[in-house]
Amino acid sequence: MQNCVILNGDYSYLNTVSWQKAIKLLVKGKVTVIKYTEIVVKTAENMIVKIPAVMKLIKIIRTIYRTKVPFSKKNVMIRDGFTCQYCGSLKELTIDHVVPVSRGGKSTFENCVTACKQCNNKKSNKLPSEVQMYLKKKPIAPTISEFTRIKAVKAGVYDLLKDLGVY
Ligand SMILES: [Zn+2]
Repeated sequence: MQNCVILNGDYSYLNTVSWQKAIKLLVKGKVTVIKYTEIVVKTAENMIVKIPAVMKLIKIIRTIYRTKVPFSKKNVMIRDGFTCQYCGSLKELTIDHVVPVSRGGKSTFENCVTACKQCNNKKSNKLPSEVQMYLKKKPIAPTISEFTRIKAVKAGVYDLLKDLGVY
């Protein structure tokens, strides 16, 4: 059966629900529709409605998010989309300390990026600027909410939206 994506009030991914549940939420005024599918159904109340594809909560649910994701090499790679932050390679990925450990660099989200083996070897114990290597983006500590979104894009929402014919 058709499912509907529910986004939090801040547009982060929250959940997917059945279309029946989605319409109930809509009738209760808990959500607004961002995108509809082309599928039209008749509800129990004899209402003809288009099934929503994506809806957004009117209020933000805050309680489910802790502020920061715990630091780990795996989480650095998830944040970086399993992509070398210097050359964009998707192969032989390692973790590079932007400021090398030998020069006082810490193992934190702000100082660690995903790098392929080649880039990591080339950079060695230098600063990126010393070897003319440039990061695609500034490394930041991600929040749970961002991670949930990344996970959703990777593992379901995109496919779901494709299945619904939205993309
Ligand atoms: Zn690389």
